[in-house]
Amino acid sequence: MELKYKRVILKLSGEVLAGQKGFGVDYETVEGIAKYIAELSAAGVEVGVVIGGGNFWRGRSNSKMERTTADYMGMMATVMNSLAMSDALKYINVSNRVLSAITMTQLAEPYNRENAVSYLREGQVVIFAAGTGSPFFSTDTTAALRAAEIDAELILLAKKIDGVYDCDPMLNPNAKKYDQLSYQEVLDQKLGVMDLTSITLCMDNHIPIAVFDLNYPENIIKACSGENVGTIIEE
Ligand code: UDP
Repeated sequence: MELKYKRVILKLSGEVLAGQKGFGVDYETVEGIAKYIAELSAAGVEVGVVIGGGNFWRGRSNSKMERTTADYMGMMATVMNSLAMSDALKYINVSNRVLSAITMTQLAEPYNRENAVSYLREGQVVIFAAGTGSPFFSTDTTAALRAAEIDAELILLAKKIDGVYDCDPMLNPNAKKYDQLSYQEVLDQKLGVMDLTSITLCMDNHIPIAVFDLNYPENIIKACSGENVGTIIEE
């Protein structure tokens, strides 16, 4: 398959790692996703992975706590998910590195842009853990930020739904799916596919976003060949 994109960021929300369990890590689900990351890497795509933490903890949902503390707990959750994915990749012999935005050298390397790029060039999968390292941000923003830093050509945004709709298709059977959207349309219509900070960052840095349904993980490969497998958000 001819590849259009050679360096990508795959953004997985934490909840996809929970599988049917709905909480924590379902290792079989992680293994299933790891296989597709392996396929992508074997096809010659340089893959960076950003994983959320919502299967364990989301800072903004814990209103009684001091927000920064709650957010650091969320960032810790992303580290657990990153370690699970790293382990699943190692198990199938995919060389990978976990780079953490919060220093915890016993279990992950500190994030450094130069190291990330050289690992990617070597064909290693790079997992970006601990979000941006700062509270009040999200792992969507992390995906946009890391994509800009490492010159990724595409963000693959894995969802449990097959693209972006004008309203919730679970609530409205007449909901209309978009094949293509501009960043500005997403911002103007507040479409909620990613948070607005991350959309703005992608817009400023001209990084297209391919939204696809992770229930069909083969879409990961198709999207890298330039096929529109859900909704494409670009200029
Ligand atoms: N988080 C943060 N800064 C970041 C990234 C994440 O504070 O740069 C925290 C925040 O509390 C967030 C949690 O980590 O709620 C988990 O991330 P996110 O909600 O993006 O995970 P997802 O919804 O993708 O599973």
